[in-house]
Amino acid sequence: MKKLLKTQRSDTSHWVGDGFPVRTIFGYNDLAKDISPFLMLDYGGPTIFTPSNKIRGVGEHPHRGFETVTIVYAGEVDHRDSSGGGGSISPGDVQWMTAASGLVHEEMHSKKFSQEGGAFEMIQLWVNLPSKYKTAPPKYQAIKNNEIPVVSLPDQGAIVRVIAGEYLGFKGPTQTFTPINLWDIRLSSNRKASFTVPTSQTAAVFVLSGSIILNDGEHISEAEIAILDTVGEEFTLQASADSKLLFLGGAPLNEPIVGYGPFVMNTLEEIQQAFMDYKNGKMGNI
Ligand code: MN
Repeated sequence: MKKLLKTQRSDTSHWVGDGFPVRTIFGYNDLAKDISPFLMLDYGGPTIFTPSNKIRGVGEHPHRGFETVTIVYAGEVDHRDSSGGGGSISPGDVQWMTAASGLVHEEMHSKKFSQEGGAFEMIQLWVNLPSKYKTAPPKYQAIKNNEIPVVSLPDQGAIVRVIAGEYLGFKGPTQTFTPINLWDIRLSSNRKASFTVPTSQTAAVFVLSGSIILNDGEHISEAEIAILDTVGEEFTLQASADSKLLFLGGAPLNEPIVGYGPFVMNTLEEIQQAFMDYKNGKMGNI
């Protein structure tokens, strides 16, 4: 059985630009070592936006050294970046953007969502790259809702959408640089399910809504993440209410993490270089 290492939650939110009210559940300065290769989890919303002719969001900014993963649950986000990647991310869709050697991008509400308003809920994850891929060219994967396999567990009330990695033989469509499992899990109230993941990989469960009992013991509630030990393969989740969960885990990179703002590298020199390259326009523009 995989043991609980720690839990972490955030009840304070801050704005990213004027489009994203987020709670940072963990960042590269706290739990990144325990949940490698993941560097950050921002939980955006849930919130209601009123209709507006102004398009809210966050304008042009750079990234280098990692990937940004945007999962949209409600609302719609439009994306454009300096390497030519872009598109609309609708509910159920996932955007997997490899910044790697560096790019600039903007993340905005779509025009349609801005004008109509309504419920908005998303997650942005930052996924670290091993040193040798931090200088790889940028890449963009637009993963549509209907490309993501939906695995229904025996009995009713438990569904796993495999965004990346594999679950019960169902493979996610995402290409990743290192082994990663990313699953969108829905558990109905009182439903219990057990999950098996590769041993010596990191594992964490984030609760978007509802609440769960982990391994028949600990209660994990809304906007809280449970980090499990890398030892062992199995854990169980029992929903105390209808629950929406995100499982994240993978092979740890075991490399130094030096991050500053939108750049995450292995050394301070590489961070200074990133700031210089951005300033000198080497990450391009939109
Ligand atoms: Mn960004």
